[in-house]
Amino acid sequence: MVHAADLVRKAVMRLAWHSGFASGARDRFGGLGSIVMLHRVRPDCISPLGVNRSLAITPAFLEQIIVSLKSEGTEVVSMDEMAERVKSGLAGKRRFVAITLDDGYNDNLTHAYPVFQKHNVPFTIYAAPGLIEGAAVLWWEIAEKLIAKAGILSIPGGPEWRCGTLHQKRAAFHSLMRYFSINLTELEQLPVLREMCAQQGMMCGVPSDQDVMNWKELRQIAADPLCTIGAHTVHHYNLKKLSPDMVAWEMRLSADMLEDRLGKRPMHFAYPYGSARAAGRREADIAAAEGFVSAVTTRHGTIHGEHRANMWALPRISINGRFQKLVYARTMMSGVTTPIANAGRRVVQA
Ligand SMILES: [Zn+2]
Repeated sequence: MVHAADLVRKAVMRLAWHSGFASGARDRFGGLGSIVMLHRVRPDCISPLGVNRSLAITPAFLEQIIVSLKSEGTEVVSMDEMAERVKSGLAGKRRFVAITLDDGYNDNLTHAYPVFQKHNVPFTIYAAPGLIEGAAVLWWEIAEKLIAKAGILSIPGGPEWRCGTLHQKRAAFHSLMRYFSINLTELEQLPVLREMCAQQGMMCGVPSDQDVMNWKELRQIAADPLCTIGAHTVHHYNLKKLSPDMVAWEMRLSADMLEDRLGKRPMHFAYPYGSARAAGRREADIAAAEGFVSAVTTRHGTIHGEHRANMWALPRISINGRFQKLVYARTMMSGVTTPIANAGRRVVQA
């Protein structure tokens, strides 16, 4: 599926890069470096309707990015090292990139990890224990599978979606996303999804049906010193929709569970969804109070010395399937797209 806005963004980024503007402006906009956000890394596309295609890049593209970063002298660092550099304001050091992957997809182990090992680069995986144990589900992926299968989909006492054609299915997916995000509370989402799955004879919320690493696999990858495991809440809820006590509980329990299962307490945190609608000032203050060294959002931006004062609302650069070309990745990491995406702001915070 091609978004008109994406075509404009791509044209602007190609122009910025090929005109030399992006590389020239890197000193002003690029700051100390970037935190890259990935989700899935796999050679094939398993998004039946194409609507979750943006969550995946190929291992070949990941390797291309790492080779490119190294060739231009950028250092790929761990999140500990990132935090150290921002807090100490180490000027004169080379620009850094920290690579992060959200949700703990099992392709991180099978397809991304070999690339990280080959190039000896550190990486961070933000894991949500509820996704591993079946108390939470990757509902946007289950919804896509559900809509791909269904002819008509309905919520008892709620809306009904016709899913006869591919066009209808895609429209239904976006409508269902809105319904789940806006009309349902975080605690209602899973029971409603289970009911919809039952209607279609589909599994829902069984750990083996999900594409995330199990504890054994997570332990295996976490044992490598290149890997940092960060916390991503227990249930992958939108934290802005929860009470302050629940927000703190989700953060603390996810860290407790990861420490218990992996033997090391996570010091870095990622907000589920991470947009301004899912994480703000209140959530950043709670993450700080819970003792995390850093917390990342999904807001678009590079990392600057100013972030020293607020390490709990760090923006990232999403490298995803919709922008799977080196020219886009390099332009975004140069920082020139940060003010474009943030109403002129060079430094993006909570
Ligand atoms: Zn997530």
